[in-house]
Amino acid sequence: MIENGNGKDAVDKPAKAVLTPLGSGGWIPVKGRHTACYAFKKGKTLVLLDFGTGITRLIEEHDYLLNGIEKVTGIISHYHIDHIMGLFYLPAFFTNRHLDLYAPGKGLYSKSAKDILENTFQPPQLPRKLADFIPSIEIKDIPMSGMKIDGIDIRFRAQMSHVHPTVAVRIGDHLAYCTDTEPEYETIGFAMGVNVLLHDCWFADKIPADVVTPAQVKDLLGLSGQNGHSSNLAVALLAREAKVRTAVTIHHNPLNSFLEIEKMAIDAAGIAAVEMTYAEDGKSIEC
Ligand SMILES: [Zn+2]
Ligand SMILES: [Zn+2]
Repeated sequence: MIENGNGKDAVDKPAKAVLTPLGSGGWIPVKGRHTACYAFKKGKTLVLLDFGTGITRLIEEHDYLLNGIEKVTGIISHYHIDHIMGLFYLPAFFTNRHLDLYAPGKGLYSKSAKDILENTFQPPQLPRKLADFIPSIEIKDIPMSGMKIDGIDIRFRAQMSHVHPTVAVRIGDHLAYCTDTEPEYETIGFAMGVNVLLHDCWFADKIPADVVTPAQVKDLLGLSGQNGHSSNLAVALLAREAKVRTAVTIHHNPLNSFLEIEKMAIDAAGIAAVEMTYAEDGKSIEC
């Protein structure tokens, strides 16, 4: 129970969990679409998934997300520049708050996350080393066996079908974040029952006219990846098999227009009979 302003007891309702895409694109920031960065917020818990150029929205219209937050957890899926560029901007947001930064480490790469990131972000590319960039930062390897943030279970899964290994993240039953990957059958178990599946969607499949049966899913998924990314139909099938509430396509191809991205989601949702939409920068999703 908490006290309200009248001195009367009020019921302490559980905080709503909300996911705000700050950068829903991949590769190149384009008008209306920054590169990979997503903010998960529940009460005083703020988790940033990836640090692409979208993080700049935290000094613009989404600065409210940082209100009252003293400690932020950051999780980096992999080291491609469209996912880490925003680390360069950290001094704008973290002058008086702590950042726990997790990134793939020795289990997936030959070096620790700290070694990889400090090697990338150092003079002469930056005025000083990443560790000295903001007053309070701790860089850690992602514990692949899982961890808890403020009592919420966080699970991880290595995805090996991108150019370099990437890490999928599951936050309680709120969401699963699977970016920069071809469709992997194991994602079904990993994302089972989440409210929102955020999944890489780079291109449109030639969608078969007949309905896809569960028995066909594994074969179809194998055909629905290209250059380390996934098709719209693959995302819909994964969402259907994992019984998620809503599938949300992410990491949009900058060469596709919003209309094309929307059509990809609508087409695949119709074939697989799932609720499916596409992430838009700044458009929050309850999860
Ligand atoms: Zn990417
Ligand atoms: Zn990538």
